[in-house]
Amino acid sequence: MNTDVEVNTDVEVNTDLDDGVGAFRAEFSAWLDDNLTPAVVEAAAAGGGLEEGNIEILRNWNRTMADAGWAAPAWPTEYGGRAANIAEQLAWLELMSASGAPGAINVIGVSNIAPAIMAVGTDEQRQRYLRPMLRGDEIWSQGMSEPDAGSDLASLRTSAREDGDTFVINGQKTWNSLGRHADWCQLYVRTDPDAPKHKGISCFLVDMKTPGVEVRPLRTMAGDLTFSELFFTDVVVPKSNLLGQLNEGWKVAMTTLSYERAGVAKLHLNLRERLNHLMDDAKGRPAMSDPVIRDRLMSVYSRIATMGWTTTRELQAIGAGRQPSPTMGSIAKLMWSLTEQALAELAVDLLGLEGLSGRWGKNLASSRQTTIAGGTTEINRNILAEHGLGLPR
Ligand SMILES: Cc1cc2nc3c(=O)[nH]c(=O)nc-3n(C[C@H](O)[C@H](O)[C@H](O)COP(=O)(O)OP(=O)(O)OC[C@H]3O[C@@H](n4cnc5c(N)ncnc54)[C@H](O)[C@@H]3O)c2cc1C
Repeated sequence: MNTDVEVNTDVEVNTDLDDGVGAFRAEFSAWLDDNLTPAVVEAAAAGGGLEEGNIEILRNWNRTMADAGWAAPAWPTEYGGRAANIAEQLAWLELMSASGAPGAINVIGVSNIAPAIMAVGTDEQRQRYLRPMLRGDEIWSQGMSEPDAGSDLASLRTSAREDGDTFVINGQKTWNSLGRHADWCQLYVRTDPDAPKHKGISCFLVDMKTPGVEVRPLRTMAGDLTFSELFFTDVVVPKSNLLGQLNEGWKVAMTTLSYERAGVAKLHLNLRERLNHLMDDAKGRPAMSDPVIRDRLMSVYSRIATMGWTTTRELQAIGAGRQPSPTMGSIAKLMWSLTEQALAELAVDLLGLEGLSGRWGKNLASSRQTTIAGGTTEINRNILAEHGLGLPR
């Protein structure tokens, strides 16, 4: 049997979305050719987010992109973006992925927090926070989850008490991504303990250097310190740092979580790149002729292709002015999580011991968190059952 199997894994999704974005694509492609260096690509490929050693190189790259208007093309031009339409955002994501260019270091800030500041923030807040966030000069985290409030976020208990021109915050958050690097936190707290639980929540922009804030990093099974626990003891925050209206934090949270729809396209593009890397690393291995392995390979390949088509169909619908599907986020999240884990396990069976160390070993350990991050698998299955299939609660 031929063990040197050639499989073309380039999952090309051919759509009409490219219409009219040739100039945009050419401009960004030329800019990448001129500016992206192998050192930057290497720092991104090393993984581990903002681990020491990588942070300055990734931050400098972030500034280069931001100053040229390429860090967040979806943002309005007045805040440093290009007001890119969905087809342009997709072209940008494809070129970023294909070139191995890392995105903005403020992943959560740029995609989730900034749109909320743009939507419900004051002019002063927009002027103060958006530019440093886009350049990566100030890093942001999002403080939602608590030890007893995760899927049921509205049960959160960290509180803020009004005191003259300030609020005084007490409580604990957990699983705070980027927490140990963060300069600012978009923090959700209870401001009215007597109101129904969704109604007594407010959102604050909290300077992490304020006295009373303690950050305790947590090490994950992948070896990274990507999360932290946050403790707030009598932390005084000015009233001007309230984002949106008092007791309307739930609306801010929903705004925050619903933005950057084209971002779902990133999920299949990242997977596609990794499948291509796996195929390169596995070339010529005996396992490549094992029919069970080949079957699993095709299953991962097909899932990635299906994710690409599903995303593209959704983006085309949004581009045509239709309402986004209420279940799209859950479908994308679930498919991403299942495919991440299938790919990680396949790499181990294809590469043997090599699949358990280095970048594939890290990939295997990291893939487990996708069951939980961004809404757990069970919660997403519930949403699909109720809102997609119309099943009873
Ligand atoms: C990589 C990663 C990054 C994260 N980053 C952040 C961050 O930056 N900021 C932040 O605030 N949080 C963050 N989180 C936390 C994340 O949002 C929570 O872990 C998530 O919401 C689940 O909450 P929980 O861990 O409290 O689990 P729980 O909600 O307690 O769930 C425990 C188990 O019960 C199941 N379950 C819960 N409710 C139901 C239900 N109604 N029906 C069926 N099953 C149910 C869940 O699926 C899960 O299996 C992050 C998590 C991960 C893994």
